[in-house]
Amino acid sequence: MKTYFFKIYGRVQGVGFRPFIYKLAKELNLKGYVLNTSSCVEISLQGGKKSIDNFIERVKNEAPPLSRIERIEGNLSEEKEFIDFFIKESKKDEGFNFISPDIAICDDCLKELFDPNDRRYKYPFINCTNCGPRYTIIEDLPYDREKTTMKVFKMCEKCEKEYKDPTSRRFHAQPNACFTCGPEIWIENLKEDKIIKENIFKELSNILKKGEIVIIKGVGGFHIAVDATNSDAVKKLREKKKRPTKPFALMMKDIDMIKKYCFVNEKEEEILKSKERPIVLLKIINLKDISPLVAPDNKYLGVMLPYAPYHYLIFEEFSNPIIMTSGNLSDEPIINDNQEAKEKLNHITNHFVLHNRDIERRVDDSVVFIEKNNINFIRRARGYAPDPIKISISLKPTLSLGGELKNTFSLGLDNYVFMSPHIGDLKDKETLDVYEETIENYIKLFKISPEILVCDLHPQYLSTEFGEKFKKYLEVKYMQHHKAHGYSLILDREIESDIIIFSFDGTGFGEDKNIWGGEVFIGNINELNRVAHFKYFPMTKSDYIIEKPNRIAYLYTKTFLKSYQKNLFKDMNPFEKEILDKMVEKNENIIYTSSCGRIFDIVSSILDIKKEVSFEGEAAISLEMVANDSNENSSYYNYEIQKNEFYEIDLKKVIESIILEKSSFNKSDIAKKFHNTIAKICLDISKILKEEYKIKNVGFTGGVFQNRLLISIINEIFKNEDFILYFHNRVPPNDGGISLGQIILGRKE
Ligand code: ZN
Ligand code: ZN
Ligand code: FE
Repeated sequence: MKTYFFKIYGRVQGVGFRPFIYKLAKELNLKGYVLNTSSCVEISLQGGKKSIDNFIERVKNEAPPLSRIERIEGNLSEEKEFIDFFIKESKKDEGFNFISPDIAICDDCLKELFDPNDRRYKYPFINCTNCGPRYTIIEDLPYDREKTTMKVFKMCEKCEKEYKDPTSRRFHAQPNACFTCGPEIWIENLKEDKIIKENIFKELSNILKKGEIVIIKGVGGFHIAVDATNSDAVKKLREKKKRPTKPFALMMKDIDMIKKYCFVNEKEEEILKSKERPIVLLKIINLKDISPLVAPDNKYLGVMLPYAPYHYLIFEEFSNPIIMTSGNLSDEPIINDNQEAKEKLNHITNHFVLHNRDIERRVDDSVVFIEKNNINFIRRARGYAPDPIKISISLKPTLSLGGELKNTFSLGLDNYVFMSPHIGDLKDKETLDVYEETIENYIKLFKISPEILVCDLHPQYLSTEFGEKFKKYLEVKYMQHHKAHGYSLILDREIESDIIIFSFDGTGFGEDKNIWGGEVFIGNINELNRVAHFKYFPMTKSDYIIEKPNRIAYLYTKTFLKSYQKNLFKDMNPFEKEILDKMVEKNENIIYTSSCGRIFDIVSSILDIKKEVSFEGEAAISLEMVANDSNENSSYYNYEIQKNEFYEIDLKKVIESIILEKSSFNKSDIAKKFHNTIAKICLDISKILKEEYKIKNVGFTGGVFQNRLLISIINEIFKNEDFILYFHNRVPPNDGGISLGQIILGRKE
């Protein structure tokens, strides 16, 4: 008989790990104890060598579904004899921890939810150690009820009994609750100053049926809900939310309902039903009764399945798809407090479904799509964050601050990067506050005190400004935006050898002070070198993040294709033209860019698809949607490559051909041909670089590669070529992935 002491690191708290250890130790007749520390689970075990080996083997193989073991350390211990196996009180220690993301209701809880004989029959907050909220309710670690927003609910006798019973699924389930002792949900009508607590799901269904907008408090924030089949209601929502065209996400009762409207392949079904329950962008079969205003002119619908228990209860009473859009005002962060929600959203509606389980930390719904069985993130948030991204290099304590739009930040140490959930656009003052608050919170929670700060090279990014405040105390480093995209892909896919990287997006500040956005790099995890880019073209300096496509088209043609201008811009405001002309003549407020995203905008504008936009990327998305209608298979436009210091890709001829074909060809064929051209450019450049540098790996990163049509064409035309292709699959290709790439500057020498 000897005593062994083990430390198990990873996601081992709040996932039923201690009861699992307890049961296993009992079964194998081992004595000792288990306890949570703030960085790991400690186990002391007394027994024969053989049963202890067996124990560890079984820990590895049978650990609870939500756990993730990263490392087990073990050695002999001097500890005295134990008479039993028991669970000891948690303690604080040094070192960082893992926090489970919020997980959708599990099958066992779902069964109980609809079992009339269960004491939690239709209890809106049912959960267990295998499911329920985590990240959004945790105030501090180690993970115990007293350190969550559940602390205000004192467990009733029955709940307490489960909580203390190592054989129960609710043993140490911190959010454990029931009708008697737990959180409750109610409807508030602000106008009539009325609170409804009885039959609230029936009541909610009646409100939705009347075409009214309802605010519903969720797991990580508030949703704005409306009957998706009621066009008047959707229209009202668009007006009130000041969101004219951007698609809304839907929640649907079950997978059968989704299949009525959308194509769902095996992988998509798996992701829809996964414990993370993201919004999945699905190809529409037929909208049927769903209002066309939900996703105007879009080929895809963003759909998710219910994930909180009360979402299921809503669909018990209401049978239509429901718009569930995040309860923020256009670019502001999501709201997490009842009072704040009522104050900020009362101009949208009087109907609020609220509950009294506080949200400690906000988190949006995640958004993904599946292409060729690969999961692509548009937004990484609920269900995924704050799960760390494991990387192949080792980091000093490092904080990388991300970009400006679609911001995330990352906190890294050793082989782990804790990436924040999607935060949003920092230009908004309130989002910036949330950003700073969340950074502070992460540092405290994960106990990583950064020594190195990494910012974008852009001097005017608010994240950069934030970083520079710390110059006195910390080492501040800078990384060029498109290189950050490139490194993000390298870390995301753990690419170890040399690679050619296409980093195509809207805009980012370049090393030569021009605005980059259509860049090609070669290199590896140690260095990336720019080898090619789209030829620079002029753009106005004013707020160039969301620019009017027709202005960019105007300046492009003015510079390179002057003879076509008169015809193309007949309808443009003469005053606007004059201003633009002056800007160019004086070379004032003009910047030069190699942006691939802006080229999509130019084409979208020239084809009269989108001349003005209401959200970032809209013109490019519309162009993709129009191109989807084409049967045109593989033709493309001719372009030129000039070799100067870099290979310069000149699209003048492409744009000219598009202008010429516009009058005689159908728009969707032209749009498709343009997509083919961009893919062809990637292939041609790859071939040139392969010849020159003997590199076979090719990667794609940047917001442009959220374009599914482009991804599928690339997959197609590279198919019979000798290349290995890499797309993102753990973080978004858009600026939401930037902070992961930046973190590389914190690596240990
Ligand atoms: Zn459960
Ligand atoms: Zn209870
Ligand atoms: Fe970018």
